[in-house]
Amino acid sequence: MLTYQGKSVFGGIAIGKIRVYRKNAQTVKRVRVEDPQREMERFLAAKETAAAQLKSLYDKACREVGEDNAAIFEIHQMMLDDADYLESIENIIKNQSLGAEYAVAATGENFAQMFASMDDAYMQARAADVKDISERLLRILSGREEEQDGGGEPMILAAEDLAPSETVQLDKSKVLAFVTVKGSANSHTAILARTMNIPAIIGADLPLTDESDGKTAVVDGFSGKIYVDPEPELLKEMQARLAQEKEKKRLLQTLKGKENVTLDGKRIQVYANIGNSRDLALVLSNDAGGIGLFRSEFLYLERDTFPTEEEQFVIYKQVAETMAGKKVIIRTLDIGADKQADYFGLAHEENPAMGLRAIRLCLTRPEIFKTQLRALFRAAAFGNLSVMYPMITSVAEMRKIQAVVQQVTEELTADGVPFMVPEQGIMIETPAAVMISDLLAKEAAFFSIGTNDLSQYTMAIDRQNPSLDDFFEPHSEAVLRMIQMTVENGHKEGIWVGICGELGADLDLTQTFLKMGVDELSVSPGRVLPLRQVIRQTDTRKL
Ligand code: PEP
Ligand code: MG
Repeated sequence: MLTYQGKSVFGGIAIGKIRVYRKNAQTVKRVRVEDPQREMERFLAAKETAAAQLKSLYDKACREVGEDNAAIFEIHQMMLDDADYLESIENIIKNQSLGAEYAVAATGENFAQMFASMDDAYMQARAADVKDISERLLRILSGREEEQDGGGEPMILAAEDLAPSETVQLDKSKVLAFVTVKGSANSHTAILARTMNIPAIIGADLPLTDESDGKTAVVDGFSGKIYVDPEPELLKEMQARLAQEKEKKRLLQTLKGKENVTLDGKRIQVYANIGNSRDLALVLSNDAGGIGLFRSEFLYLERDTFPTEEEQFVIYKQVAETMAGKKVIIRTLDIGADKQADYFGLAHEENPAMGLRAIRLCLTRPEIFKTQLRALFRAAAFGNLSVMYPMITSVAEMRKIQAVVQQVTEELTADGVPFMVPEQGIMIETPAAVMISDLLAKEAAFFSIGTNDLSQYTMAIDRQNPSLDDFFEPHSEAVLRMIQMTVENGHKEGIWVGICGELGADLDLTQTFLKMGVDELSVSPGRVLPLRQVIRQTDTRKL
């Protein structure tokens, strides 16, 4: 047994095989090729290999699980020969001179979406199959071994680091835990692990080589330890702890349907943070009262081109409708800093955290901003939707935003499209916004405090830089005073004030926030019920 150490960013126990994530292996870039004919040949060769693999899988499954259960591989073989599917791939390679990987990935995605949107349940189920064959082709094209996927079984994902654009593209149902060599506690990978409610360790000294790949391991997200090839005794102990964890989760389920109210009758809203409409199931299963932060930039990060107004509208509408009258706060695009998408064509910056990001980018590129606002305003008619603007530092920015809102309103009216302008709030995540929160409170319907960035800018600690973790004070008095000040200034103007940064889920601070009069906490879905438990055990008269 080999033991490695890292820093825990989310507790929990995971037992499974390690999969070493190899950079660029999972993301497909849109690259131009000189010789489309050669790309076509590469594709056809990969298709032949895929057909042979599927044939042998079919034969093996027939022997082991019977013909009925093996039929799926027959369907995959048929899909691989589907004329429309092949024509689309050929068209992208030949007419657009793009690489075979891109042609397969784009076609797979398009066909999967098409199947998923059909009314027929049988056809909907084909979406997963077309994705499956496309992934098989991609694995073959990129020379990745099939075993890297562990035959579809969930794995402990070990990586150097994961960019937000990479994590959004992972098949989350296949990840038991995250272990990264780099990364920092407030990085978006850590946030993702919390959303998924799975153990996560950063700064681990685990070697990302064949030595670790495919080995059985235990991840102890509480102590930050990773045990590779665990000894039987340790394995037994960890299996028992895993069972206890499951039991704790089960007990928390009894809090479902209960109110977030203290023993002395103080109520607070507990909402969930999401990055995608796929997270909705987690929001509902954890009984969140609404969505306090939908990081809309994740829609942009998982693609190679700008999402259209229609594509965004469909997603926002789906979220608003699914939440059925509960509050849904969608944050407008917060791209920039660590959240980069190549197709935005952003210039390299020396200091991206303080660069052209979030609202600054939206005000600089109004065509992008207006497309999103149009989609949001159209979707607002389908539920209880609010929008909020990130990285605000001045009243002047709010005025500029309102000018764009006015333009969008006029354009939608002229187009005769049904819409409504929803409630608009702002994120308080810069010290500047805190200091003028009395003025900003006159411009906004609510405040949501982004403690991740507020901590970064207040303590001057880059949230992406792991070597500064020792200087990072999670309960910084400076940040707590800023929260207090924001709450007071918001309340003076009669608006509600919430927290949507990671600090909102810190159970050691729940009582402090209740005492301050914070109106809402928006946390990863898996943190809703533990937070409810603490709220219900608190008596604010005794604080
Ligand atoms: C924050 O900064 O606290 C926040 C909620 O936004 P993000 O983490 O996406 O920057
Ligand atoms: Mg932020």
